[in-house]
Amino acid sequence: MTMSSAGRTAGKQVKGMLGGLGVTLRTMLRPAVTVQYPHEKEAPTPRARGVIALLEENCTVCMLCARSCPDWCIYIEGHKEKRPPRREGGRERTVSVLDRFDIDYALCMYCGICVEVCPFDALHWSPEFEYSEPSIAKLLHDKDRLGEWEATVPAAEPLELGADIKKGKK
Ligand code: SF4
Ligand code: SF4
Repeated sequence: MTMSSAGRTAGKQVKGMLGGLGVTLRTMLRPAVTVQYPHEKEAPTPRARGVIALLEENCTVCMLCARSCPDWCIYIEGHKEKRPPRREGGRERTVSVLDRFDIDYALCMYCGICVEVCPFDALHWSPEFEYSEPSIAKLLHDKDRLGEWEATVPAAEPLELGADIKKGKK
């Protein structure tokens, strides 16, 4: 290698190094986009996907959510019970009763498919996110815990004007 080519190489290296230092300096002077959680907290948007709440009285144990969950992290068990007819002279009814409804948040990927597919509006998103646990087993929320999250679900938006009118009716 000649003296002039060695000089050119060294010049390129210094230029590259100065360019890198310039990027570092610019980044250091920019305000941080992160916050020092848990000392500093940001309020999530009201519709944030924090945790799923269960409205047990709406659940018919149809299992659609558990079958649709890509992570297989919803565990449901139920049994059938006989109930008296609604009207006199009617037939005895068979209803499904929910015994177990667990979601394992150690597996859940917060895709929201279960909330979308539930035909009976029994699952809702709550923006609550502070439920980390030192033990992974405690991330399995049972139906009582899932039911408690209902209190933190934001009220539904009002329907758009005319949305409650059935098709073909004016
Ligand atoms: S949000 Fe997605 S991964 Fe989590 S329980 Fe529902 S369907 Fe399963
Ligand atoms: S889809 Fe809805 S009604 Fe059916 S089991 Fe799941 S939560 Fe219950």
